[in-house]
Amino acid sequence: MALTKCPVDQSEMRQIQDKGIALDWCDLCDGIWLDPGELARLSRTTVDIPNLLPKPAPARTHESSKTPQCPRCNVPLEEILYEQAGSLQVDRCPGCHGLWLERGELQEIYDAAGRKLRMSGSGEPAAPADNSSDSLGTTVLITVLILLAGLIAILVIWIFQRPL
Ligand SMILES: [Zn+2]
Ligand SMILES: [Zn+2]
Repeated sequence: MALTKCPVDQSEMRQIQDKGIALDWCDLCDGIWLDPGELARLSRTTVDIPNLLPKPAPARTHESSKTPQCPRCNVPLEEILYEQAGSLQVDRCPGCHGLWLERGELQEIYDAAGRKLRMSGSGEPAAPADNSSDSLGTTVLITVLILLAGLIAILVIWIFQRPL
């Protein structure tokens, strides 16, 4: 397979292994090219590119006026919002849906995925763990109420039986 060329500076990218997935990494600008599906496997989320919303593209603010090009299809990349990571902007190929991540962006996506995973367990809605802890809380509450009622009953009996 031919080496991937960096979409920004056209230098040959190096293949690196991350979590068993081969990524193309640019030595020069620290950018990373991800083929479709690789981001989902990397960030261990089940959502990949379909959740990325196309963003009304304003004029590019890149230092170079050249639009990055997809190393696979040679078409200009489009800027999109990666919603999972706040308002992170990434470049995506409209053709093959590969992703171009500039320096630091992959880490932001990792961080966001980590936060998400910690917040909502596996990401499934209504995690079973939450339900069981809910019913456990209810059981504890009922037990405490019964004990409290028992204590009050004992106290009342004791007050009534006390010689005045
Ligand atoms: Zn580069
Ligand atoms: Zn492409």
